[in-house]
Amino acid sequence: MKEYLQDTNLGLENLNDLYNDTMQAVRLGYWQLDIVNNKLFWSPVVYEIHEVDPSEEVDVEKAIKFYHRDFQDLISEALNKAINDGEPWDLELKIVTKTGVPLWVRAIGKAEFENGKAVRLRGLFQDIDWLKTREQELLESQSALKEAEDMAQLGNWKWYVESDKHFWSEGRFKVLGYDADEVAPSFEAAMELVHVEDRSWVEEKVRTAIVNKESYEITYRIITSKGELKVLVDKGDFVESLTYKASYYFGIVRDITKDHLREQKLQESLKSLERSNRELKDFAYVASHDLQEPLRGITSYLQLLEMGYANLFDDEAKMYMDSIINASTRMKKLINDLLTISRLDTANRQAEQVDLNEVLSIVKANLEMSINESGAEISYAELPVVTGDESRMVRLFQNLIGNAIKFRRAGVVPKVEIEWEQVGQKVGFKVSDNGIGIKPDYFDRIFTIFQRLHTREEYEGTGVGLAICKKIVESHGSRIKVESEVGKGSSFLFELDKGK
Ligand code: ADP
Repeated sequence: MKEYLQDTNLGLENLNDLYNDTMQAVRLGYWQLDIVNNKLFWSPVVYEIHEVDPSEEVDVEKAIKFYHRDFQDLISEALNKAINDGEPWDLELKIVTKTGVPLWVRAIGKAEFENGKAVRLRGLFQDIDWLKTREQELLESQSALKEAEDMAQLGNWKWYVESDKHFWSEGRFKVLGYDADEVAPSFEAAMELVHVEDRSWVEEKVRTAIVNKESYEITYRIITSKGELKVLVDKGDFVESLTYKASYYFGIVRDITKDHLREQKLQESLKSLERSNRELKDFAYVASHDLQEPLRGITSYLQLLEMGYANLFDDEAKMYMDSIINASTRMKKLINDLLTISRLDTANRQAEQVDLNEVLSIVKANLEMSINESGAEISYAELPVVTGDESRMVRLFQNLIGNAIKFRRAGVVPKVEIEWEQVGQKVGFKVSDNGIGIKPDYFDRIFTIFQRLHTREEYEGTGVGLAICKKIVESHGSRIKVESEVGKGSSFLFELDKGK
């Protein structure tokens, strides 16, 4: 018997410890107020929550003062109602602990009556600050999400397919042109707004994805409840539930109308640019090609005139004649340059292995006259092989070297140097001269067709050479640029593909 009692005592002690530990862990205490003797009892956890030493005496006034100023009336009223009307309370309130820490608590209480008179109040008191903080954080992140959705014209949705329950965020309602909760969220409600031309494929796509538990992303048009046309991107992901909860689809819907319109406009202007470019090229080709014929007529009759009737001309007429011949020769050159340029656009470029040493031999032979006349020195080390179109390479180097000689300084022997260096799969070239140089203001202009910086009397030319060089370099996937100092010389830099 004695042993049994001892065992039971031990059991009770254990139970008591367990109870105290639990209360401690969940920060839950109890209290009691003897109304008749005005004596207040707090359990250890209540003391702990208030950060008050358990040896300290407490009374109702003191206890109420622990509540935050904004909550003192509320708790006093609750006590009065309990005492007078027998109404229990269960409130979430804020206290300020003895060390000044604000804390959310849950206060529960009720009155006990004897002979119709309240004699005792008792209740529970729990620290719920962590819960409140979480709740607050959740609210904050929800409002941040809402704001983000607003800014990005986004909405999110959830669809518990089995129970056909839908949840739409405020953003989703807004994207569809609704106020929050204006309609009951459903697949049908969303489908109803889809543009008639898109509706059947959208529905089909979503239903198929759902059957296969697949993710999907679709772009379609809607007419919002306010009659506005919008383009949406809708993305749905199947979320397999790992808990007892049902699986669902989670989706994001985004209003991309503005991007879409921008893209559409861009495509349209690109298309019209392409069209006008093509028309311009065709025009340049046809014009220059067809102009050749009458010009040929003019020059041959001029030659006949000169041969057969030259003796009939006086000096003035001879001068006119010379001017006409000059003008037509110049026109012939212009037409040829124009044809060359438009052919660069239309003809296919070859991708041959081109030995630039050979190219330079051809160029030097073509420029033999001006090289000899000017005494120009052209220097370069062994040149590499590049991948490109040989005739275009000849034209490129010939135009650059030709210009370097043409735009020489008076009294200075023209020196042209070709340097190169391999950069990965490309070879960088620099064609430099010691000529008159170019003002930086004109660095862009000189590559434009028919743009010249000098009169024909100073330097002859048509203003097409560098435009051709630019086209050739660009048709080989690179860019050309100039570096120059007036009175010192110029360098033209560009890259070509390394040979294999
Ligand atoms: P063109 O040589 O028929 O005038 P280009 O298109 O070859 O036409 O050159 C355009 C203009 O750029 C030239 O008129 C000239 O003013 C300038 N330019 C070209 N190359 C050089 C150079 N090496 N040195 C100085 N100026 C140059």
